[in-house]
Amino acid sequence: MAPPMSAARFLAALRAEGLRVAEVGDWASHHRNHKGPWGPVHGVMIHHTVTSGSEQTVRICRDGYAGLPGPLCHGVITKDGTVHLVGYGRANHAGLGDDDVLRAVIADKGLPPANEANTDGNRHFYGFECENLGDGKDPWPSAQLDAIEKVSAALLRAHSWTAPSVIGHLEWQPGKVDPRGFTMKGMRERVAGRLK
Ligand SMILES: [Zn+2]
Repeated sequence: MAPPMSAARFLAALRAEGLRVAEVGDWASHHRNHKGPWGPVHGVMIHHTVTSGSEQTVRICRDGYAGLPGPLCHGVITKDGTVHLVGYGRANHAGLGDDDVLRAVIADKGLPPANEANTDGNRHFYGFECENLGDGKDPWPSAQLDAIEKVSAALLRAHSWTAPSVIGHLEWQPGKVDPRGFTMKGMRERVAGRLK
C-alpha cells in the first residue's frame, strides 16, 4: 500500500532522473480528486495520445475535451523527450481495467491478459501520455523513448517498485491499443536495466 508521493517529491524524483521537466500552470493542484479516490498507487501507466504537435497535445491533456475533462494524465512526454506536468492527483487516463492485472502489478508478476473492466485505474496508477498518432507509423524518437524509460524508473525507484509495475494502457483495459509502436515488454527491460 503506497500513498501517492507529494507533488514536490514527484517533481524532484523526475528531475533527479535527469529528465527535462516543464511545469504547466497550476499542475500540482489540477486533478479530479472530487470525483473519486486517488491512491493507494501501485504502478505507472503509459499511453499514446493520437495527436500531433506538442503545444496542442499538452493543452488537450491538461484541459481534456467534451465528455472527458482533464487532466488526462500527470505528465505529457512530447517527441523531444520533455515531460510536461499537467496535473497531479486523480486524472482521467486509465479508466476501468482488470482486477487480475492490478493484482499481478502489486505482486510484481507477469501480467494476465486484460479481459475485464471492473477496477478503477485512475485511483491506482501514475499516468503518462506520449505524443504519437498511434497508427504504428508515426515514429517514436529515441529522446521520447528515453524519457518514458526515465519517468518509469524514477517513480519505481521512489516507491521501491520493480519493472513489472510499469504497464501499457493496452495491458490494463480490454479494447485499448496504446501505446503502439514499441513493446511494453521491451520498455520494462529497459527500465529494469536502469534500475540496476
Ligand atoms: Zn490510453
